[in-house]
Amino acid sequence: MSHKKIDRLIYLFSKLPGLGNRTAKRIVLHLLKNKDRLMTPVAESLLDAANAIRACKSCNNLDEEEICYICNDHKRNNKIICIVESIVDLWALENARFYKGKYHVLGGTLSASNVDSVAKLDMSKLLNRIENEEIEEIIIATNATVEGQTTAFFITEKLKNYKIKVTRFAHGIPIGGELDYLDEVTLTAAFNTRQNFQETA
Ligand SMILES: [Zn+2]
Repeated sequence: MSHKKIDRLIYLFSKLPGLGNRTAKRIVLHLLKNKDRLMTPVAESLLDAANAIRACKSCNNLDEEEICYICNDHKRNNKIICIVESIVDLWALENARFYKGKYHVLGGTLSASNVDSVAKLDMSKLLNRIENEEIEEIIIATNATVEGQTTAFFITEKLKNYKIKVTRFAHGIPIGGELDYLDEVTLTAAFNTRQNFQETA
């Protein structure tokens, strides 16, 4: 008996974040036991999502439209951009419900030890927005990790020549802390006490 298809599925699931080979096997067996209720819907939904979901042309958030629901929301303050590392951070801030500006999702961070990462961090979209929209404040909300801090300094350098207020989250974010793991009270406090970047640098 050939296990080729099962092995391939297990291999693919084991590549997902947080899943190892053991969990991947359990998931695959669970799916096979529930073909109609789970396996087929999951497969269809994956394909559907893969075809429909894309990065927002303006901020890199994920949506089914070229310009995402946040960029399109005219009730939001479009003079403030909050820079986050990834979409989970955007989701964390949205869940906390206090931030009413726009976002920019970097989709990565700089590693101090990896020079190549500078080239990979695409700043052109962000600089484009700063040049073409009436942005008054940039809030750097990268994580309080070494990479997050390195990235924050890099962005601040890039923004030095623009007449724009650059702030970052201050109190309450523990060193090494990732936004996604913070509770809403801590996130709100960090936002409300944000400081000019130069003062804290
Ligand atoms: Zn957007």
